[in-house]
Amino acid sequence: MNQFLKRVELQKCQKLADEIDRVFPLDSNIKKAIASTPREIFVPVGFKHHAYKLDALPISKNQWISSPLTVAKMTQFLEPKGADSVLEIGCGSGYQAAILSKLFRRVFSVERIEKLVWEAKKRFKELNILNINVRYSDGMLGWREFAPYDRILFSASLKNIPQNILEQLNNGGILVAPIEKDGKQIITRFIKNSFTIEKEELDECLFVPTKRGTV
Ligand code: SAH
Repeated sequence: MNQFLKRVELQKCQKLADEIDRVFPLDSNIKKAIASTPREIFVPVGFKHHAYKLDALPISKNQWISSPLTVAKMTQFLEPKGADSVLEIGCGSGYQAAILSKLFRRVFSVERIEKLVWEAKKRFKELNILNINVRYSDGMLGWREFAPYDRILFSASLKNIPQNILEQLNNGGILVAPIEKDGKQIITRFIKNSFTIEKEELDECLFVPTKRGTV
Protein backbone atom coordinates (compact mmCIF):
# COMPACT_ATOMS: atom_id res chain seq x y z
CA MET A 1 0.00 0.00 0.00
CA ASN A 2 1.37 3.48 -0.71
CA GLN A 3 1.78 5.89 2.20
CA PHE A 4 -1.22 8.12 1.39
CA LEU A 5 -3.58 5.18 0.97
CA LYS A 6 -2.19 3.69 4.14
CA ARG A 7 -3.08 6.83 6.11
CA VAL A 8 -6.60 6.93 4.72
CA GLU A 9 -7.10 3.24 5.46
CA LEU A 10 -5.84 3.59 9.00
CA GLN A 11 -8.28 6.44 9.63
CA LYS A 12 -11.07 4.14 8.49
CA CYS A 13 -9.79 1.37 10.78
CA GLN A 14 -9.74 3.80 13.69
CA LYS A 15 -13.36 4.77 12.96
CA LEU A 16 -14.31 1.10 12.78
CA ALA A 17 -12.64 0.44 16.14
CA ASP A 18 -14.50 3.44 17.65
CA GLU A 19 -17.81 2.21 16.24
CA ILE A 20 -17.29 -1.28 17.69
CA ASP A 21 -16.22 0.22 21.03
CA ARG A 22 -19.54 2.09 21.25
CA VAL A 23 -21.62 -1.10 21.02
CA PHE A 24 -19.15 -3.45 22.71
CA PRO A 25 -16.61 -1.68 24.95
CA LEU A 26 -13.14 -2.89 24.02
CA ASP A 27 -9.95 -3.35 26.02
CA SER A 28 -7.45 -0.78 24.82
CA ASN A 29 -5.01 -3.33 23.34
CA ILE A 30 -7.80 -4.98 21.31
CA LYS A 31 -9.10 -1.61 20.12
CA LYS A 32 -5.56 -0.75 18.99
CA ALA A 33 -5.25 -4.06 17.11
CA ILE A 34 -8.48 -3.37 15.20
CA ALA A 35 -7.49 0.24 14.55
CA SER A 36 -4.23 -0.87 12.94
CA THR A 37 -5.50 -3.69 10.69
CA PRO A 38 -6.78 -2.62 7.25
CA ARG A 39 -9.83 -4.87 6.77
CA GLU A 40 -10.13 -3.91 3.12
CA ILE A 41 -7.05 -6.04 2.33
CA PHE A 42 -9.08 -9.08 3.45
CA VAL A 43 -12.28 -8.54 1.43
CA PRO A 44 -12.76 -9.22 -2.31
CA VAL A 45 -12.27 -6.30 -4.71
CA GLY A 46 -16.01 -5.81 -5.31
CA PHE A 47 -16.68 -5.38 -1.58
CA LYS A 48 -13.93 -2.94 -0.62
CA HIS A 49 -16.47 -0.14 -0.06
CA HIS A 50 -18.15 -2.33 2.60
CA ALA A 51 -14.90 -3.23 4.35
CA TYR A 52 -15.42 -0.84 7.28
CA LYS A 53 -19.06 -1.68 8.02
CA LEU A 54 -20.06 -4.06 10.79
CA ASP A 55 -21.14 -6.75 8.33
CA ALA A 56 -19.87 -10.21 7.49
CA LEU A 57 -18.84 -10.34 3.80
CA PRO A 58 -18.46 -13.15 1.27
CA ILE A 59 -14.93 -14.26 0.32
CA SER A 60 -13.84 -17.04 -2.09
CA LYS A 61 -15.30 -20.53 -2.13
CA ASN A 62 -18.64 -19.68 -0.51
CA GLN A 63 -17.01 -18.69 2.77
CA TRP A 64 -17.37 -15.53 4.85
CA ILE A 65 -15.10 -13.03 6.52
CA SER A 66 -16.73 -12.58 9.95
CA SER A 67 -18.27 -9.26 10.98
CA PRO A 68 -15.63 -7.06 12.63
CA LEU A 69 -17.93 -6.82 15.66
CA THR A 70 -17.91 -10.61 15.97
CA VAL A 71 -14.12 -10.70 15.50
CA ALA A 72 -13.80 -8.09 18.27
CA LYS A 73 -16.03 -10.09 20.63
CA MET A 74 -14.27 -13.40 19.95
CA THR A 75 -10.89 -11.71 20.52
CA GLN A 76 -11.92 -10.07 23.78
CA PHE A 77 -13.57 -13.25 25.12
CA LEU A 78 -10.26 -15.01 24.46
CA GLU A 79 -8.51 -12.75 27.02
CA PRO A 80 -5.20 -12.42 25.12
CA LYS A 81 -3.36 -10.52 27.90
CA GLY A 82 -0.52 -12.57 29.32
CA ALA A 83 -0.88 -15.37 26.73
CA ASP A 84 1.87 -16.23 24.26
CA SER A 85 0.42 -18.61 21.64
CA VAL A 86 -2.97 -19.03 19.98
CA LEU A 87 -4.39 -21.61 17.57
CA GLU A 88 -7.24 -20.53 15.26
CA ILE A 89 -9.36 -23.08 13.43
CA GLY A 90 -10.80 -21.56 10.23
CA CYS A 91 -8.32 -18.97 8.89
CA GLY A 92 -10.62 -17.93 6.00
CA SER A 93 -9.57 -14.48 4.78
CA GLY A 94 -7.00 -14.18 7.59
CA TYR A 95 -8.57 -11.04 9.14
CA GLN A 96 -9.12 -12.61 12.57
CA ALA A 97 -5.58 -14.06 12.53
CA ALA A 98 -4.17 -10.62 11.61
CA ILE A 99 -5.89 -9.11 14.66
CA LEU A 100 -4.54 -11.93 16.84
CA SER A 101 -1.03 -11.32 15.48
CA LYS A 102 -1.02 -7.92 17.22
CA LEU A 103 -1.95 -9.48 20.57
CA PHE A 104 0.01 -12.75 20.66
CA ARG A 105 3.66 -13.50 19.99
CA ARG A 106 2.82 -16.65 18.01
CA VAL A 107 -0.35 -17.29 15.95
CA PHE A 108 -1.17 -20.62 14.32
CA SER A 109 -4.15 -20.81 11.97
CA VAL A 110 -5.55 -23.84 10.15
CA GLU A 111 -7.76 -23.73 7.02
CA ARG A 112 -9.31 -26.65 5.09
CA ILE A 113 -9.72 -24.81 1.72
CA GLU A 114 -6.39 -24.62 -0.10
CA LYS A 115 -7.17 -21.49 -2.13
CA LEU A 116 -7.98 -19.54 1.03
CA VAL A 117 -4.69 -20.61 2.60
CA TRP A 118 -2.70 -19.13 -0.30
CA GLU A 119 -4.74 -15.94 -0.34
CA ALA A 120 -4.34 -15.43 3.41
CA LYS A 121 -0.57 -16.05 3.21
CA LYS A 122 -0.28 -13.47 0.45
CA ARG A 123 -2.11 -10.89 2.56
CA PHE A 124 0.10 -11.48 5.61
CA LYS A 125 3.14 -10.99 3.40
CA GLU A 126 1.72 -7.79 1.94
CA LEU A 127 1.13 -6.45 5.45
CA ASN A 128 4.53 -7.66 6.61
CA ILE A 129 2.98 -9.80 9.36
CA LEU A 130 5.60 -12.37 10.28
CA ASN A 131 4.21 -14.15 13.33
CA ILE A 132 1.31 -16.07 11.76
CA ASN A 133 1.81 -19.67 10.66
CA VAL A 134 -0.93 -20.97 8.36
CA ARG A 135 -1.51 -24.64 7.68
CA TYR A 136 -3.65 -26.31 5.01
CA SER A 137 -5.32 -29.12 6.94
CA ASP A 138 -8.47 -30.28 8.72
CA GLY A 139 -8.50 -28.07 11.81
CA MET A 140 -10.55 -30.62 13.75
CA LEU A 141 -7.23 -32.39 14.20
CA GLY A 142 -5.68 -29.24 15.69
CA TRP A 143 -1.96 -28.67 15.09
CA ARG A 144 -0.04 -31.02 17.39
CA GLU A 145 3.46 -29.95 16.41
CA PHE A 146 3.25 -26.62 18.29
CA ALA A 147 0.82 -27.66 21.06
CA PRO A 148 -0.03 -26.93 23.81
CA TYR A 149 -1.48 -23.47 23.08
CA ASP A 150 -2.42 -20.83 25.65
CA ARG A 151 -5.55 -20.01 23.68
CA ILE A 152 -7.64 -21.75 20.99
CA LEU A 153 -10.26 -20.02 18.85
CA PHE A 154 -12.81 -21.67 16.56
CA SER A 155 -13.83 -19.37 13.69
CA ALA A 156 -16.45 -21.88 12.46
CA SER A 157 -19.30 -23.40 14.46
CA LEU A 158 -19.50 -26.91 15.88
CA LYS A 159 -21.59 -29.01 18.30
CA ASN A 160 -18.91 -30.21 20.69
CA ILE A 161 -15.21 -29.54 21.16
CA PRO A 162 -13.31 -32.71 20.22
CA GLN A 163 -11.19 -34.22 23.01
CA ASN A 164 -8.00 -34.04 20.88
CA ILE A 165 -8.39 -30.25 20.64
CA LEU A 166 -8.84 -29.86 24.40
CA GLU A 167 -5.66 -31.90 24.79
CA GLN A 168 -3.82 -29.23 22.77
CA LEU A 169 -4.85 -26.48 25.21
CA ASN A 170 -2.49 -25.57 28.07
CA ASN A 171 -3.61 -25.91 31.68
CA GLY A 172 -5.16 -22.58 32.61
CA GLY A 173 -5.77 -22.01 28.89
CA ILE A 174 -8.93 -20.57 27.32
CA LEU A 175 -10.83 -21.85 24.29
CA VAL A 176 -13.58 -19.81 22.60
CA ALA A 177 -15.95 -21.33 20.05
CA PRO A 178 -19.37 -20.79 18.44
CA ILE A 179 -21.27 -23.81 19.78
CA GLU A 180 -24.42 -25.05 17.98
CA LYS A 181 -27.24 -25.53 20.47
CA ASP A 182 -31.04 -25.75 20.00
CA GLY A 183 -30.87 -24.30 16.47
CA LYS A 184 -28.73 -21.35 17.61
CA GLN A 185 -25.03 -20.62 17.88
CA ILE A 186 -23.63 -19.42 21.19
CA ILE A 187 -20.13 -18.03 21.70
CA THR A 188 -18.90 -20.29 24.49
CA ARG A 189 -15.74 -19.95 26.56
CA PHE A 190 -14.02 -23.01 28.03
CA ILE A 191 -11.35 -22.67 30.72
CA LYS A 192 -9.14 -25.69 31.23
CA ASN A 193 -7.96 -26.49 34.74
CA SER A 194 -5.93 -29.52 35.80
CA PHE A 195 -9.00 -31.68 36.42
CA THR A 196 -12.00 -29.83 35.03
CA ILE A 197 -13.23 -27.74 32.11
CA GLU A 198 -15.28 -24.69 33.10
CA LYS A 199 -17.85 -23.56 30.53
CA GLU A 200 -19.47 -20.14 30.08
CA GLU A 201 -22.08 -19.17 27.46
CA LEU A 202 -21.51 -15.55 26.41
CA ASP A 203 -23.42 -14.33 23.35
CA GLU A 204 -25.34 -15.40 20.24
CA CYS A 205 -23.47 -15.42 16.95
CA LEU A 206 -23.52 -16.67 13.36
CA PHE A 207 -20.59 -18.53 11.78
CA VAL A 208 -20.29 -21.01 8.92
CA PRO A 209 -20.18 -24.57 10.25
CA THR A 210 -16.96 -26.58 10.52
CA LYS A 211 -16.57 -29.33 7.95
CA ARG A 212 -14.28 -32.35 8.02
CA GLY A 213 -11.46 -33.04 5.58
CA THR A 214 -9.74 -30.69 3.11
CA VAL A 215 -10.68 -29.34 -0.36
N1 SAH B 1 -11.53 -16.24 10.62
C1 SAH B 1 -12.09 -16.07 9.31
C2 SAH B 1 -13.53 -16.56 9.25
C3 SAH B 1 -13.72 -17.46 8.11
S1 SAH B 1 -15.22 -18.34 8.02
C4 SAH B 1 -11.93 -14.63 8.84
O1 SAH B 1 -11.54 -13.77 9.63
O2 SAH B 1 -12.16 -14.37 7.66
C5 SAH B 1 -14.75 -19.93 8.63
C6 SAH B 1 -13.63 -20.65 7.95
O3 SAH B 1 -13.49 -21.92 8.59
C7 SAH B 1 -13.85 -20.98 6.46
O4 SAH B 1 -12.82 -20.45 5.71
C8 SAH B 1 -13.87 -22.51 6.42
O5 SAH B 1 -13.29 -23.06 5.24
C9 SAH B 1 -13.04 -22.86 7.64
N2 SAH B 1 -13.24 -24.21 8.17
C10 SAH B 1 -14.40 -24.90 8.33
N3 SAH B 1 -14.16 -26.13 8.83
C11 SAH B 1 -12.80 -26.22 8.99
C12 SAH B 1 -11.93 -27.25 9.45
N4 SAH B 1 -12.39 -28.45 9.84
N5 SAH B 1 -10.61 -27.01 9.46
C13 SAH B 1 -10.11 -25.80 9.06
N6 SAH B 1 -10.89 -24.79 8.62
C14 SAH B 1 -12.22 -25.00 8.58
